[in-house]
Amino acid sequence: MSIFTQTKFLPSPQHHVHTICHSPVLRTSVHCSISTSAKPKLNHEKLTIEPPRLQRLEPSPTLLNDNMRPMLNDPSLLSTWSHRAWVASGCTTVLISLAKSVTGAAHSHIWAEPILAGLVGYVLADLGSGVYHWGIDNYGGASTPIFGAQIEAFQGHHKWPWTITKRQFANNLHALARVITFTVLPLDLAFDDPILHGFIAVCSGCIMFSQQFHAWAHGTKSRLPPLVVALQDSGILISRSQHSAHHRQPYNNNYCIVSGVWNEFLDKHKVFEALEMILFFKQGLRPRSWSEPSSEWTEEAETISQIANN
Ligand SMILES: [Zn+2]
Ligand SMILES: [Zn+2]
Repeated sequence: MSIFTQTKFLPSPQHHVHTICHSPVLRTSVHCSISTSAKPKLNHEKLTIEPPRLQRLEPSPTLLNDNMRPMLNDPSLLSTWSHRAWVASGCTTVLISLAKSVTGAAHSHIWAEPILAGLVGYVLADLGSGVYHWGIDNYGGASTPIFGAQIEAFQGHHKWPWTITKRQFANNLHALARVITFTVLPLDLAFDDPILHGFIAVCSGCIMFSQQFHAWAHGTKSRLPPLVVALQDSGILISRSQHSAHHRQPYNNNYCIVSGVWNEFLDKHKVFEALEMILFFKQGLRPRSWSEPSSEWTEEAETISQIANN
C-alpha cells in the first residue's frame, strides 16, 4: 500500500495548494515532493509572459492505471510472428538501400560522399528520435490516430521503465520497423543515387534500431555485451547515464535516444521548451511535462535506484 502525496505551489499571482492522494498502488513507496510550477513564464526584469489565466494545474489526463502494469513474463512483452515479419521487412528495406549505396559507389568510384551522407544520416537520426519522443511524450493520448499506441506505450515506459529490458527484440522494434518499411520501400524503388541511399540507409537503420539502443540504455552494465558498453561509453550509442536523466525530474529533457549527441544542445538552448511555448500560445496545447510530476510519469522507487546504479 502506498500513498502519493503531491503538493504544488502554483505560479503567481495566486497560489493554490493542490493535494492529490492516490491509493493504493502496488509498491511500498512514499513520494513527497514540493515543486514550483513556474512554467510557462519568462521573466527578464520587465518582460513577463504568462499564459492566459492559469487557474488550476490539473494532473494530465490519465492514460494508464495500475491494472496495465506489465508483469514479468507478461505475454505483451513477447514477440509475435507478426512483430518478427515487420522487423524482417524493415531490415530488408534498409539493406536494399545500403546495397544500392555500396554498389552505386563502387560503380562510380565515389566513396567519400556516400560515407559522409551516412554520417549526416546518423547525426540527424538522433535529432529525429528526440523530436518524435518529445512529441509523443507531451501531446495526444491513447485515442490519437496512428500514434495512440506509441503514446500509451511511452507513458507506460515512464512508469515502468524496467520492462523495456524484458521486452523481446521484435516486440520492441516492430512499430518503428513498420514505419521504416512504408517510408523506405518507395525510396528504394524510386531512386538509385548512392549518396542519397547512403543517407537513407544509415538514418532509417538508426531510427529503426533506436528502441534497441534505448533498451540497452536501461540495461545493467554487467549484463550488457562489452561492445555495447564500449559504444555507449564512447558516445556512439545513447549512454545509460544520459538517458537516466530523462527518467528523473523535471521529466522534460534528454529526449534523443540514438547517440544522444543532440541532447545537450537541445536542453541547453531550451529548444523543446520554446516549441512548447509556441504550441501553447498558437494552438492552446499544453504539454504533459508542464503538469508533472504526476503518478503518470513518476517511476516507481525501486527502478530509480536501479537506473542510478547502472
Ligand atoms: Zn520519454
Ligand atoms: Zn527510457
